[in-house]
Amino acid sequence: MKGIQDRGLWCTRSFVNGQWLEGQRHFAVHNPANGAWLADVAEAGAEETTAAVEAAYRAQQEWARLPAAQRSKTLMAWHDAMLANIDDLARILTLEQGKPLAEAKGEVAYGASYVKWFAEEAVRVYGDTIPGPGPDKRVLVIKQPVGVVGSITPWNFPNAMMVRKAAPALAAGCAFVAKPAAETPLSALAVAELARRAGLPDGVFNVVVGTDAPAIGQVLTQHPHIRKFSFTGSTATGKRLLAQCAEGVKRTSMELGGNAPFIVFADADLDAAVEGLMLAKFRNAGQTCVCSNRIFVERSVYEAFAQKVRAAVAGLKVGDGLEPETHIGPLISEQAVSKVAELVSASVAEGAQAEAVTDVPSQGHYYPPTVLSGVSNRMAVARNEIFGPVLPLIPFDDEASVIAEANDSEFGLAAYLYSRDIGRVFRVSEALEYGMVAVNDGILSNAAAPFGGMKASGHGREGSKYGLDDYLDIKYLCLGGMDR
Ligand code: NAP
Repeated sequence: MKGIQDRGLWCTRSFVNGQWLEGQRHFAVHNPANGAWLADVAEAGAEETTAAVEAAYRAQQEWARLPAAQRSKTLMAWHDAMLANIDDLARILTLEQGKPLAEAKGEVAYGASYVKWFAEEAVRVYGDTIPGPGPDKRVLVIKQPVGVVGSITPWNFPNAMMVRKAAPALAAGCAFVAKPAAETPLSALAVAELARRAGLPDGVFNVVVGTDAPAIGQVLTQHPHIRKFSFTGSTATGKRLLAQCAEGVKRTSMELGGNAPFIVFADADLDAAVEGLMLAKFRNAGQTCVCSNRIFVERSVYEAFAQKVRAAVAGLKVGDGLEPETHIGPLISEQAVSKVAELVSASVAEGAQAEAVTDVPSQGHYYPPTVLSGVSNRMAVARNEIFGPVLPLIPFDDEASVIAEANDSEFGLAAYLYSRDIGRVFRVSEALEYGMVAVNDGILSNAAAPFGGMKASGHGREGSKYGLDDYLDIKYLCLGGMDR
């Protein structure tokens, strides 16, 4: 159990209708820090997913009929259980995903903060009354849960990406079927065990784990009982799943890829910008959708900024996430390492210069934190989501040109800018075609704020007062004969 205190949280079977499913076949989960075997997990596929959707359908109406305050109380119990078990949840997360333990704890606390936020929002689903078009008419608007929600989430935040969807869905009165990534199923299953302990009724929250993602995805996007599908992952997969949802005209939320610009103007506090950049670039070894992917630096401060960045990167310690001094863990797989290496080689071939931290473990899926200077916005490393600890520096000359370059991307998720000129801060923030803009800050996500993108980064918002709307249908009641 690799140091897990509560052995009941080490779960290796799908959780459907309040039961742990046995499986004929199993798949292995490995630790990316050293390739060590962690667990054999029972394989679920289309059949088990269908059973989960049908259980959710049976459970949903009763869950929705409960007073909102009661759903809120159960969600709070789930939140409290997550925090009470934060050490074990973080350890499971680091073992299967690789991020440093302190970051894993941060992710669990972050995921739990959405459960608390939506437990509090559950009791504030207000409707409207609208002046009618004539003396005999009254117009009322009510909001109702959409029904059964299917979700698919990636390996980079195996706790928070799933919990961030389940919390608003359950608060709204929906039932939920989750499919986490096959590389990292254990975090979602541990959270399912805590949902069971917190008293979520059977069938309201289900987790199916398996390696046949297309078969599971087919059910979650096309089963007639699915009313809403919520996805976090790559844009390529998201497009495919959106097309599948189109057949049944399902409601969708899509949290897809990013290619975040990080813009440093000459008037910025350069030390603060370096500090923010280190967070925005290297968290989770550069494997976040909001990672700064293209670092634009005004030419007059480019050299000074590059020097500060090189010094900060040289101090990074790469290693196993369970070691307390580790800043940067492994990438998720050898394939991920190769993809990053190819992007760097292509940029070097086009004229960029690479400087890397040299002290990297020889075993495990590690890529050295690398500063790439002399990059242009046309190079492969700037056109693609890097998803690794590579920091490309691109010089720019003026505000108009950097806005044009920053927006020259199919993606529109997160952007960052550093400047002390308030007029520029507003002009540039408003001109950036991104769902989220961080100003003089390297971390932008929290439960009170609407997280989500534009363009090929998707649609829908997670967190904030807007997050519940993604799981509610608006119904209008037209009352006639009021003047008789
Ligand atoms: P991915 O390949 O799209 O996988 C994400 C999920 O989709 C996994 O659970 C995967 O299952 C599943 N999947 C893959 N192919 C499928 C198919 N044909 N049908 C049904 N499900 C399928 O993405 P990734 O590379 O693992 O994750 C990283 C991506 O997620 C990046 O692009 C990142 O920017 C994005 N992301 C976005 C946000 C956001 O909020 N916008 C947050 C985090 C990550 P298996 O793993 O089991 O194959």
